[in-house]
Amino acid sequence: MSTYYDLYCNIAPQKGQLRVKGEVHIPITQPKFFFVLNRGLIWKDVSQRFAGEHHSVNLYRTDELEVPRIYNGELWAVEISTEKEENKQKQMIVDFEYTGQIHPPRKDSEVPMMGYIKSDFVELACYSAWYPVPLSMETYMSFQIALESPSDWIWDSNGESTGTETTGKISVWNWKQSRQVNDITIVGMPSHDAHIDSNSFFWGPRRMVSSHRVFDKHIHKLSGMLEEWLGPRGTKAPLRFVLTPRQHGGAYTRAGMVVVGGGYPTDLSSQNSVLQAMCHEVCHDWFCKASPLTYDNWIDEALAEFCSIHIVNDYVNENFLPTRITKTKEQLDEAGELPAIRDLVREKDESYAAFYFRGFLLLNKIAESVGDAEFRRVIGDFARICTQRDDITSDLFLDVIQKKLGNKSRKLIEKWLEYLGKGVPE
Ligand SMILES: [Zn+2]
Repeated sequence: MSTYYDLYCNIAPQKGQLRVKGEVHIPITQPKFFFVLNRGLIWKDVSQRFAGEHHSVNLYRTDELEVPRIYNGELWAVEISTEKEENKQKQMIVDFEYTGQIHPPRKDSEVPMMGYIKSDFVELACYSAWYPVPLSMETYMSFQIALESPSDWIWDSNGESTGTETTGKISVWNWKQSRQVNDITIVGMPSHDAHIDSNSFFWGPRRMVSSHRVFDKHIHKLSGMLEEWLGPRGTKAPLRFVLTPRQHGGAYTRAGMVVVGGGYPTDLSSQNSVLQAMCHEVCHDWFCKASPLTYDNWIDEALAEFCSIHIVNDYVNENFLPTRITKTKEQLDEAGELPAIRDLVREKDESYAAFYFRGFLLLNKIAESVGDAEFRRVIGDFARICTQRDDITSDLFLDVIQKKLGNKSRKLIEKWLEYLGKGVPE
């Protein structure tokens, strides 16, 4: 399912204000379209467009479905009446305008603040629901954005830049994303504060980036090694790490753009683990289409762990892999009793230990049983399949395993996916 957004945004960082006028093209497959919007944003105008004319649309707040905890916003629904002539189309176009501020998550929600508009930095992704975010994370999006802001600000987004125009104190930045992505992310900061270097993988406030420059030569090498193994990345966008002043919530990856709250530790003793954490995010460029709404997401996280740990092991040549396997076993034991991977979704707290730890150990178990080189070749083939598809499922992975490694390997994976309890199956 694909949804198209055309957004004209105005961000006033000094006032913490956002104004968006835009349209969304929604494929009509269900009688209602649910989406999430931050509670600090107020609708100004909403209508449905049909044959060039505006018609009223039934938009309302609702609690009929639960909003996943990762989204800081309220649930809205647009009702699609198929009786009406205009809705006999394949898609519906909704024009809207809203304005306001991004409110932090409610205190009792225990959800980290993942986005904000502040006078020294702006970070906006689906987590803060700064645009009408489809409730179904299986909806992929294409988009076009024009962003109006003070001309002394610099911006980046997970789209292809199509130019910037400046008139006096106002600049308009433009991006287009025609590939299917799962979010629209914008980051920005005052230019005088920004580290700008086209030879660096890092983007962010100068005070944060300077200590990260030591990683540039390593990332250059490691991303090349990953492409050699897994094939071309799933996006044509250049790889970059955006460091944001956000203190909580960690990192997320959007079409080549890795957004990292607070940056990485830069002491030498953590270097290998940091390189692995960076590679983990880069690996999502291949596997990210495994839905977080189903257990299929284990594929994305377990393979990101597996590929990043193996590639760093190749690179540093210092027993990194066996050390990580031992450590992961300990971490999994500490996590105690866990449900089966098959019975979890990303949102559940236990999914982290199950997908990352048990999932990583599972992949190593197969590598051990069929031989490391052989298994890595199969993962390379699978990664190439993933970048050519719109979705990735656990079943697709199992089919590839069965075809290339036989039924025994498939059965072993299935056993692990169904295993519940402490640690790993016997
Ligand atoms: Zn990950």
